[in-house]
Amino acid sequence: MNYLSTRDNNLRMTPAQAIAKGLAPDGGLMTPQVMPTLAKNALENLKNMSYQQRAVYVLARFLEGFSSSELTAYARAAYGGEKFSHPDVAPVRRLNENTYCMELWHGPTCAFKDMALQMLPHLLSASLVKIDEKKTVCILVATSGDTGKAALEGFKDVNKTQILVFYPKDGVSNIQQLQMVTQEGQNVGVCAVVGNFDDAQTGVKKLFSDEALAQQLAERGYFLSSANSINWGRVLPQIVYYISAYCDLRREEVIEPGQEINVCVPTGNFGNILAAYYAKMMGVPIKTLICASNENNVLTDFIRTGVYDRNRPFHNTLSPSMDILISSNLERLLFELSGRDDKLVASYMEQLAQEGRYEVNKSIRNKLQRNFAAGYCDDTQTKKTIEKIWKEQRYLIDPHTAVAFHVLEEYRRETKDETVTVVVSTASPFKFCSSVLDALGEKEFAPGTEILDQLSQLTGVEVPKPLACLKDKQVRFDKVTEKEHMVDEVLDYLR
Ligand SMILES: *Cc1c(COP(=O)(O)O)cnc(C)c1O
Repeated sequence: MNYLSTRDNNLRMTPAQAIAKGLAPDGGLMTPQVMPTLAKNALENLKNMSYQQRAVYVLARFLEGFSSSELTAYARAAYGGEKFSHPDVAPVRRLNENTYCMELWHGPTCAFKDMALQMLPHLLSASLVKIDEKKTVCILVATSGDTGKAALEGFKDVNKTQILVFYPKDGVSNIQQLQMVTQEGQNVGVCAVVGNFDDAQTGVKKLFSDEALAQQLAERGYFLSSANSINWGRVLPQIVYYISAYCDLRREEVIEPGQEINVCVPTGNFGNILAAYYAKMMGVPIKTLICASNENNVLTDFIRTGVYDRNRPFHNTLSPSMDILISSNLERLLFELSGRDDKLVASYMEQLAQEGRYEVNKSIRNKLQRNFAAGYCDDTQTKKTIEKIWKEQRYLIDPHTAVAFHVLEEYRRETKDETVTVVVSTASPFKFCSSVLDALGEKEFAPGTEILDQLSQLTGVEVPKPLACLKDKQVRFDKVTEKEHMVDEVLDYLR
């Protein structure tokens, strides 16, 4: 099976090319030519298998040219015992009769980005061999916090790869900074940039379009690439956990074979919830996908009205990983909902680039509303939800997950839909200690890593090991650069 661009059905690539290139040359996103479906008994057969085995089954459906022994090795390396602290990898926890929570933060960086970024480096490194690329790839990342650390952990010591992460000096939390500057591995680099996230991001974009730099690096045997969430190699591993969640609910006999469930997903760039939609296309009985946003509610409006309009104020919220006004992966959904009308998708994306706005046609809007529901949650409601779930259920959640719980509650009140629902939990509450402590009524916060113990003592919940270890780790990276000099950092790093 090949992959094609969402903006041109004639632009084809093999799976290895699609993963190695990341983006189509026309700016479109590489997408499977046909969506594979699950065999009739697949969900019943998978229900007694491990997460790693489920991953191999799903990945194999999409990756012609990758052998099952290759995929098995990657699944073990990505999700095996020393990487994920929970044997189920993505455990599904019961809250009440019809509410379940899938925890996607048991990986090495305690956020859901690990689910994809533990797998992507293996797929990428293998793809480069398959397309006969001789040069070593250097992944450049500008991060506002979560992605940088997850990418560092994923690429750490992976063959034929290097990774260099730039973070804004004053734009990440203490814990996030500490997570990055103590990163281990032979092929990793971390550098602070004077300024905010925009400065770091603009700087990295400039590096990608710097032809003199590309030339110099090529002579040294390197080329630059990115690991952002539009790469198919990041979307694909995310389909696995929706299939896995359904299998777990079947294994525990919460649902009958074929019984429909809903999913509720805290959403930013639309990668996570898109994977749920692909799982539905493959045959997982998912009825409604509930898209939960924070105050940057461009997707809520889009799903309710069919109008996508990014012309609105940007809010910094308690759920920073969802502070996004352009959800790149939405393009793949439009491609499916339009019946794979590449010209139409290209015209919507052109309007988005020119005017920051487009309105989908009636047929797309109807399909959108048949499959999706949407809601949003402000910071006050986010904090109230953290407190409420803690008081009522003794279950500690982070601000992103709280957005989803709040939106689910409103959805149920409005629709009376009591379908069994899987809420997706995207980060450990310990990654956002001060917000969580504040929600629980604490007014003073302990300094540095002591804040982890403060939250743990208050709640009796154990600090996740990768965060608890931070205080004993050595700082390996203390470089700071002006954004004009980022190019020198790259050249110095790839000597
Ligand atoms: C990235 C992220 C999200 C948003 O996921 P998308 O795939 O971008 O929609 C939600 N929560 C957390 C904690 C994240 O890191």
